[in-house]
Amino acid sequence: MPPELQAFISIGSNIAPTQNIICSLEMLQTMPQTRLKRRSSWYRTRPWGIENQAEFINLVVEVETALDPETLLEHTQTIEQRLNRHRTVRNGPRTIDLDLLLHGDRVLTLPHLTLPHPGLHQRDFMLIPLLEIAPEAHHPTLGPLQALRDAVSYRQIIERIPQPETDGLAEPA
Ligand code: ADP
Ligand code: MG
Repeated sequence: MPPELQAFISIGSNIAPTQNIICSLEMLQTMPQTRLKRRSSWYRTRPWGIENQAEFINLVVEVETALDPETLLEHTQTIEQRLNRHRTVRNGPRTIDLDLLLHGDRVLTLPHLTLPHPGLHQRDFMLIPLLEIAPEAHHPTLGPLQALRDAVSYRQIIERIPQPETDGLAEPA
């Protein structure tokens, strides 16, 4: 088996979010050659792009994976499809959005996959949950995530919220 790398996945939903996030966490735990290590708190956030839609819930999980980035993306996209995600309006309502934020220190620019995620350095709802579970994390080209978080001017997080006990993973210590 190839060496395992640390990767971070952002989870977001604004349609039946509690149910869809719990389902996505269960499905993420069935991916091959991948273990879910930690998950952040859940955060209530203002929508990005189109503002006239329901608020989102966002969180970030850390996985250890031997999958290469493209294979990991195939698995997360299969989970999105199984949770009945329909791509209609860009940045519009969605049952689940699974974005790959970091995969080790890989830098990739492919037609269907950019790593690190191109929004990571400017979205508080990606940076803050990621830093909650990995305070020392670095962006491979832009440096420590803590500094990037401090520079974010547009705040979308409304509040950190209690999450159901049933999401299957312990909270960070
Ligand atoms: P968004 O996440 O930007 O709201 P989508 O989830 O519909 O929108 O993703 C659009 C496309 O972005 C996907 O088809 C996927 O191939 C591509 N993509 C590029 N880089 C990434 C990444 N790091 N993580 C997830 N999807 C990505
Ligand atoms: Mg996405």
